[in-house]
Amino acid sequence: MKKILALALCTASLSMYAQHGLEKDIAAIESKVIEWRHDIHQNPELSNREFKTAEKIAEHLESLGIEVQTGVAHTGVVGILKGNKPGKVVALRADIDALPVTERNDLPFKSEVKSDYLGQEVGVMHACGHDTHIAILMGTAEILAKNKDKIRGTVKFIFQPAEEGAPPGEEGGAELMVKEGVLDNPKVDAIYGLHIGSYLPVGQIAYKPRGAMAAAQRFVVSIKGKQSHGSAPWSGVDPIYVAAKIIDGFQSIISREMELTKEAAVITVGKISGGVRNNIIPESAELVGTIRTLDYDMQEKLNARMKEMAANIAKAYRAEATVDIAKGTLITYNDPALTEASIGSLKEVAGDENVNLVNATTGAEDFSFYQKEVPGFFFILGGKDPNAGPDEHYPHHTPDFKIDDSGMLLGVKAMTNIALDFLDRK
Ligand SMILES: [Zn+2]
Ligand SMILES: [Zn+2]
Repeated sequence: MKKILALALCTASLSMYAQHGLEKDIAAIESKVIEWRHDIHQNPELSNREFKTAEKIAEHLESLGIEVQTGVAHTGVVGILKGNKPGKVVALRADIDALPVTERNDLPFKSEVKSDYLGQEVGVMHACGHDTHIAILMGTAEILAKNKDKIRGTVKFIFQPAEEGAPPGEEGGAELMVKEGVLDNPKVDAIYGLHIGSYLPVGQIAYKPRGAMAAAQRFVVSIKGKQSHGSAPWSGVDPIYVAAKIIDGFQSIISREMELTKEAAVITVGKISGGVRNNIIPESAELVGTIRTLDYDMQEKLNARMKEMAANIAKAYRAEATVDIAKGTLITYNDPALTEASIGSLKEVAGDENVNLVNATTGAEDFSFYQKEVPGFFFILGGKDPNAGPDEHYPHHTPDFKIDDSGMLLGVKAMTNIALDFLDRK
């Protein structure tokens, strides 16, 4: 803490954080944040079913005098805090849903909750750490509400349901929140979000400008040939042979046509089907796979080339092929200018050496739906027990997933500082 303060005081232009002595308020809130997190961890709720969680959040925001909207995108809660001075609008987002996972950790606040998921009884657990996101944002809201007089503009707190995906047949998550106008009235100028990382030590922050997490698209290639006896291929058109050529062709799009020094791209064929027995050349074959991209121009080119290539390879061998590519999830795209402008706010609270540039990951995040509409910056906050060895892992979405309470205070500092600095910038 002392080191951070010293660092802050050395900075030529002081941010609101250091200038107005928010350190005291922030330090005082740690025990509350931990208490909220334990309560939410012990009472997890599945996507689009976050009723009690939403109630607790709304009650807290109301107690702070923040204007509250409930029932946004089913169970979402939005708080609007107007500062005493006019200015821009910044949004801070936390996702609030848990997962159908049975907790295996031995914690005093371990989840024992069971629920119905698609007709099956399952354990429910905050196995992705969204409980910490809620507690951090509730803490940030309290600090900012207390210091309203220092806010130049408006802060919008977005507590979003169903990040992990709505149950089949239901809409939900960030996409639905955007559809219901969460970025309007007042119109949001920029949005920030964080994700706790069970693999990143407490005290660390990781980020990447531009494509940080991938867009995932499912694709299906349907190949039509002509059935014949396996002994007489010349009397038919072999779709299995054509499938092999198409798989090969797809990998040449990655290796020969994608600018891989810009961003990575992946095509994986995960399933091949076609044929029934050894001596029949079947009429059709199918390939199913996934595409991962981190750049929209590259994605557009890759999608178009897959369709062209499959159709033309098939044509060369007298077959026909079509490619269906699902819209899929979006790229978690950190606006380069906003990212660059915001790094200083993170370094100030975490220390220069603890804020590090990392490689992109090929997982996906629905924060991307906000970033499609307004500039946004999403970063990773360390949550791994400082005493845990380098070989100890608590992977996300598993029964052993674990986050150390000591990581959350930096989250509150980061969100508070990044919001105030954004509003303070011209
Ligand atoms: Zn998750
Ligand atoms: Zn998550």
